Amino acid sequence: MSQSIKKLPDTLINQIAAGEVIERPASIVKELVENSIDAGASSITIELEQGGIQRISVRDNGKGIAADEITLALTRHATSKIESFDDLQRIRSMGFRGEALPSIASISRFSLSSRSAENEQAWQITVDGGHTNETAGDQLLKPARQAQGTHIDVNDIFFNTPARRKFLRTEKTEFSHCEQVVKRIALAHFDCAFELRHNQKTIFSLPPAQHQEAQERRLQTLLGRSFVENLLYFEHQHDGKRLHGWLATPNFSRSQADMQYQFVNQRHVRDKTLSHAVKLAYQDVLYHGRQPAYVIFLEIDPSTLDVNAHPAKTEVRFRDSRSIHDFCRHTLKQLLSEFHSAPIDHQQLNKLADYAGSSYRAPEQTRLNTATVMEHAAALYPSPDSQQDRNTHPTRHQPLTSASIDEMAIFGQEAVQTEDNTAALGYALGQLHGIYVLAQNERGLVLVDMHAAHERVVYEQLKAQSLDLAPQQLLVPLQVSLSASETRFASLHQDLFSELGIQLDLLSDEQIVVRSAPSLLNDSDIAGVVRDMLSDLSESGESDRIEILRNEALSSMACHGSVRANRKMTLLEMNALLRAIEETERSGQCNHGRPTWIQLSITDLDKLFYRGR
Ligand code: ADP
Ligand code: MG
Repeated sequence: MSQSIKKLPDTLINQIAAGEVIERPASIVKELVENSIDAGASSITIELEQGGIQRISVRDNGKGIAADEITLALTRHATSKIESFDDLQRIRSMGFRGEALPSIASISRFSLSSRSAENEQAWQITVDGGHTNETAGDQLLKPARQAQGTHIDVNDIFFNTPARRKFLRTEKTEFSHCEQVVKRIALAHFDCAFELRHNQKTIFSLPPAQHQEAQERRLQTLLGRSFVENLLYFEHQHDGKRLHGWLATPNFSRSQADMQYQFVNQRHVRDKTLSHAVKLAYQDVLYHGRQPAYVIFLEIDPSTLDVNAHPAKTEVRFRDSRSIHDFCRHTLKQLLSEFHSAPIDHQQLNKLADYAGSSYRAPEQTRLNTATVMEHAAALYPSPDSQQDRNTHPTRHQPLTSASIDEMAIFGQEAVQTEDNTAALGYALGQLHGIYVLAQNERGLVLVDMHAAHERVVYEQLKAQSLDLAPQQLLVPLQVSLSASETRFASLHQDLFSELGIQLDLLSDEQIVVRSAPSLLNDSDIAGVVRDMLSDLSESGESDRIEILRNEALSSMACHGSVRANRKMTLLEMNALLRAIEETERSGQCNHGRPTWIQLSITDLDKLFYRGR
């Protein structure tokens, strides 16, 4: 009889599983803290030494493990969280695979002590690289002293798997991964207190945060003050789906996608569908190439979600990703379009106040200040003396500009005549250096960048006009070579293409012919657009290429069509512009993401002049 196939010993099986689940100390932190959450803990303390490589200790006040189940908890595929396939279909807990504890215990020096509500006594088990102390026989469990809850101590990670230990990075890097993990869990569980310590130093200590105000304090501790000063809180529910959380206003954008937190049913994920929906929502309020910052929570029926898509459970699959995408995109887009006000950046105001104070004692700095303003203006609006520049941009003086301003002037006049003193942006006082409109409203002073604001107004007007997607027959039908799978995709989505004015037919397995396209695409590379759309479709199930192209075209039209700096405006025109901004969606930013106006309240101004101090 042949002897080449053998069943692997348990410890080796666990070590193999650890290869999948435990990549680094941070993975252990994640599994342990999630277990504490699942145990209903309201307070969790995490202590790390040397980035977690030396030691990870997690202590909670959850429901604990009954004495007779402690050894069971350390066996593979043992879990209290699911019992049947049905349970697997609607998971509410963080864990369910029953492999974290045995995997961790197989690659470290491990100890667990726990006391459940029913037990007077706490019990402890220790495991060394997957091996319990066999000689101790019945005394696998030793009595221990502790309050209700569980304490797990993991030492010398990968001590018995040196090859894996080599993959660990510096203590600093490993620590920052661990910190990230705790941050994410703390963001998703406001009702629980967290304390994180590293090398005996407290990194953060978060009290439970029931109300929005307390939650925003937690956000401030974890994500920084400037994030919190630029937040929009939102909540929207529809058709069994709930989306809530915080978006940073477009004024607070980042160069990296490093402040984007997505949670689905309280589980941190990085999901393509969600990322794409957010990207679209910010699409034309954000400076090109900038990244938004946000913390969003999606709550959906767990039976429409597959959380068992990845061993470390960092990925999920939606049963209906299309409807999730649309729901998120619409909710967030709506929110951002309603965001009109550009509140003053208080940090900057404080700086300004300090500056004002110091310039009072040193007047020469005042002059310097004026110079900076002029410099700033020059950078924004290249001086109109270059007649040549004007000629090369014939669109700059399109009738659109004067016509729409005149139209608005009439509108503005009406508003003035009603003498309604409640207009959000108030009424114009005058113009500054041909760049800013100064207005007075109930709260104080409003400063408007007239070019940026008008640009947004014109852009939104253009966008509101119906999109011309009427197909135009191409003089010469265009053959496009594609891969076989792209061709299949194209034929599958023929209807969608034709909705967008692109009529195409299959020529062969690897070739299509485009017969018509909307006039919008006239001078674009039609083949390129079709290919991009196909790749969008295969990535996210939908394509907004045409809309993006259209918005880009409109944006540059709007830029050229709006009032330039140094144009004298009458008070009527200025008021018209103010009314138009109030009426316009997304008017807090121009279409390049710059703010269009700011509010300085009387209190802000008092602060500048040290009044009442
Ligand atoms: P899973 O979380 O997938 O169930 P684990 O291996 O992480 O698998 O844990 C096994 C079991 O041990 C859990 O199902 C739970 O019953 C118990 N357990 C683990 N950690 C704790 C804890 N901190 N408090 C209470 N019970 C725990
Ligand atoms: Mg678990």
